[in-house]
Amino acid sequence: MQNNFTIYNSLTRRKEKFEPLHPPFAGMYVCGPTVYSDTHLGHARPAVTFDLLYRYLMHLGYKVRYVRNITDVGHLENDADEGEDKIEKKARLEHLEPMEVVQMYMNTFHRNMDQLNTLKPSIEPRASGHIIEQQEFIRRIIDNGFAYEVNGSVYFNVEKYSRQYNYGKLSGRVLDELMANTRTLEGQDEKKNPFDFALWKKASPEHIMKWPSGWSEGFPGWHLECSVMSTKYLGEVFDIHGGGMDLLFPHHECEIAQSAAALGHESVRYWVHNNMITINGQKMARSLGNFITLDQLFSGDHPLLDQPYSPMTIRFFILQAHYRSTVDFSNEALKASEKGFQRLMKAVETLGMIKPSDKSTVDIQRLRKSCYEAMDDDMNTPVLLSNLFEGVKIINSVKDGSERISSADLESLTTLFREFIFGILGLREEEDARQDDRLIGNLVKIIIDLRQAAKVNRDFSTSDRIRQDLKDAGVVLNDKKDGADWELEK
Ligand code: ZN
Repeated sequence: MQNNFTIYNSLTRRKEKFEPLHPPFAGMYVCGPTVYSDTHLGHARPAVTFDLLYRYLMHLGYKVRYVRNITDVGHLENDADEGEDKIEKKARLEHLEPMEVVQMYMNTFHRNMDQLNTLKPSIEPRASGHIIEQQEFIRRIIDNGFAYEVNGSVYFNVEKYSRQYNYGKLSGRVLDELMANTRTLEGQDEKKNPFDFALWKKASPEHIMKWPSGWSEGFPGWHLECSVMSTKYLGEVFDIHGGGMDLLFPHHECEIAQSAAALGHESVRYWVHNNMITINGQKMARSLGNFITLDQLFSGDHPLLDQPYSPMTIRFFILQAHYRSTVDFSNEALKASEKGFQRLMKAVETLGMIKPSDKSTVDIQRLRKSCYEAMDDDMNTPVLLSNLFEGVKIINSVKDGSERISSADLESLTTLFREFIFGILGLREEEDARQDDRLIGNLVKIIIDLRQAAKVNRDFSTSDRIRQDLKDAGVVLNDKKDGADWELEK
């Protein structure tokens, strides 16, 4: 497959031409959410970033298998293998089964993802559904000499691994510095070194989510699921692994180590990371009171929000920044995005109405080329959007008669806008629902007028039938002197 797409690989720290292992197939694994709370802004950015990558790869002609996991077990409150399981804690506080917590927040996540118009992954595996595979993976790591068992728990031996492989190659952390900077914490004396990480944890008696194993009744360490499920569904070597930059260390560093220790080689060819979102310049955190869920953004129901912001405004806002830059949320920035998005949609509408001339005074091929160049350059969406706004200028100049466009160029511009705005950037018209409402209103009015005519002709069987049929369809008529009102049945 011929393409010029380059993507920044966090492992080599440079932009590389994207060349999948088995074209036209491409495999992509993205770390999904731990489903213990409402979907928030922090989830929106990787969701939109990797949806963009997925859409662009498909646009280029690749057959993409996109795997995004759901973490439903094993993610403890801190990264040092300590604390309660996040989902179990929520279940305890809310008096729910852990799997009820998982289902509830997974449903919210899926609903919010649909609102943001992200495409569904090809496979969405869950950690709790792959316990046997995870145990098998641990066994391979132990057999290869890179893990040890203590009191029913199994830990990864980072120091031993480092003698043969390069632990820290992704995050740039150096083991000697890690050794100097980590101190042994209370309760971590099971580990040979404080930076060793759990592959299997023996469960305490009150722990709910636990499974039998050769080592103990317990549960897998959080990092393990991604090594296991990515290679299960994409092969022992696959193309792209994505996630937020906050996952780079320790999560992805540990993933590399686990895969190399079990398989004898690394699995991932391109590591891709999106940068984070700040709110008014601050990190988003519950403790700072600036934690905004997507539902709150869409409804405007949060003290920090001046107004609701539609899903497409949020999507447009995220796309306005390059995925490797930080993005700062503020009301001003969001209002600007809302205007920008509306201007783009207005241009799409205008585009459908302009008439071609025999000759063009505008250069659509150059515009098309620069749109591809922007996406090929590590998905440079800010540059892509500025190119598309050049297209908006062209559309407006043709409309007001200061420029002309041939029918071939008009077709080319229409295709370009459709492919890039809707296909690749994944934006969509938000008036669809309102348009449907208007259409229904017009249709019901036509039917009411027909019924009125039947009554005037004393054709009461027809007028009664229309009333009954409408009722069956959920529309209730209230007769008045000069016609009827209607409402939807409650
Ligand atoms: Zn992961």
